[in-house]
Amino acid sequence: MTLTMGDSPVETHLFVNGEARPATGNRRYALHNPARPEELVGHAAAGSPEDVDAAVRAAHAGYPSWAALSYAERADHLTRIADALTADAEDLAARARLFCREHGKILKECQLEMARLGDRFRLTASYADRLATDEHLTGPPFDTIITRQPRGVAALIVPWNWPLSILGAKLPQALMAGNTVVVKPSSNSALAPTLTLHLMARLLPPGVINVVTGAASEIGDALVTHPLVRFVNFTGSDTVGRHIMAQAARNLTPVTLELGGNDAAIICADAHLDADAFQRMYLGAFMSTGQICMALKRLYVHRSRYDEVVEGLSAACDRAVVGDGLLDETRVGPLNNAKQLETVTGLIEEARSKGADLRELGHVPDPDLYATGYFQKPVLALDPDPTLKLVTEEQFGPALPILPFETEDEAIAKANDSRFGLCSSVWTEDRDRATTLARRLEAGYTYLNAHGPTAQDSRGPFGGVKQSGLGRNLGYEGIIQFQSSHSISGPACWLFPN
Ligand code: NAD
Repeated sequence: MTLTMGDSPVETHLFVNGEARPATGNRRYALHNPARPEELVGHAAAGSPEDVDAAVRAAHAGYPSWAALSYAERADHLTRIADALTADAEDLAARARLFCREHGKILKECQLEMARLGDRFRLTASYADRLATDEHLTGPPFDTIITRQPRGVAALIVPWNWPLSILGAKLPQALMAGNTVVVKPSSNSALAPTLTLHLMARLLPPGVINVVTGAASEIGDALVTHPLVRFVNFTGSDTVGRHIMAQAARNLTPVTLELGGNDAAIICADAHLDADAFQRMYLGAFMSTGQICMALKRLYVHRSRYDEVVEGLSAACDRAVVGDGLLDETRVGPLNNAKQLETVTGLIEEARSKGADLRELGHVPDPDLYATGYFQKPVLALDPDPTLKLVTEEQFGPALPILPFETEDEAIAKANDSRFGLCSSVWTEDRDRATTLARRLEAGYTYLNAHGPTAQDSRGPFGGVKQSGLGRNLGYEGIIQFQSSHSISGPACWLFPN
């Protein structure tokens, strides 16, 4: 296994049955730096269906002894992993830098994701006592214990945009619930996530964590339809989510789908709007160059505050330095890949060609780099035609439409007029208005006076309604999704001996 760190190209392997190993036939593929597409960052193993089969069989073999551990024992393993993730400061810094170079996101965010992964392992471990408590029902008609069983081998499929935080929303939960796993990182951000997974997998018995990388077109269906896979937890686009659900149906394998969103924020007439509020709004929309499922993607503003919001947000966007994420000054890195850049610029160009009033903002210190990397400055679309794709589709990039409204009923109707329903936010100074409007929004999560990952409580179940997905990650619910309930009825003296 070659794990050269620093800025030399790295090579990552699969992880199967306690060992790192190359893909069958030594196949691999290259990953380049989206800020400098000519720069090779490394190679990841290009797994095959045979590699998937080996990984699933290893997970199946490792399952009985892992499932037999108590919750307290599994919690100890999770805590050891959390400690190990940050124990070697040099290794941590090298992985964060590698992550930045393969992904494009700014270094500070790479560090934040790494910290969040460890935090989520610790949080999941803290549920041990609650998980160990069965529900007891006394008769008549019967005496019953309701307990839960792990499902078996879980396939965990991760997107490229927030790969480590998202791993933290499914991996510790799957393990804590007693499952063994096969993780498939995205081919667009495979290196740092795979190295991090190897670090964790080495701390556990063989077969508990297995990792396959490679082209989804080659290994995706093999994983999802494998007869020994008992649960699929997928995070990604709604297009691929539909495909996963159809494939999983072949074996009636249950799925959790965390899909895209087109999050609306409602800025009420009484919202407290100062520089801090505009910075929170800016981060909600443009953090990670807008490539966040729970990013603010449609901003509805009461007409009386519209000009103020446009100017406040324009000022925040204009302070953004757009460039290489490794540089301290950078606030907006490149899009992760050429296809994503094309999607976002396509939405912007369509809006421009149909006469939308667009503001392209931010500061570009290195125009040559900007011209060759996958960059797009923050764009605000002022009161655009609401039927534009920039408004109706998930942009997943640094472009935000701002639309005025007259009444709160109108704002709610517009916010809910979407096939998506992931997150949303309400901005007001009035407590009752905040909670009343929040309850009317069709979404899995609603923030008050903030939006996005900086305001998210990892103890709260996270997921979407409508075409934003099925099921929930995170919190207690995020653990028990990886289990089935199991009722046992019998004589009370057997079931409740004390
Ligand atoms: P994507 O759907 O293209 O890919 C997601 C993952 O699925 C990747 O690992 C990919 O390789 C894999 N995949 C693709 N085809 C597959 C197949 N046939 N079988 C099995 N796996 C397959 O998404 P992406 O471009 O990586 O991520 C961006 C999307 O993810 C956006 O729509 C975003 O909103 C969504 N997302 C949602 C959440 C959430 O929690 N709701 C979080 C992050 C991202």
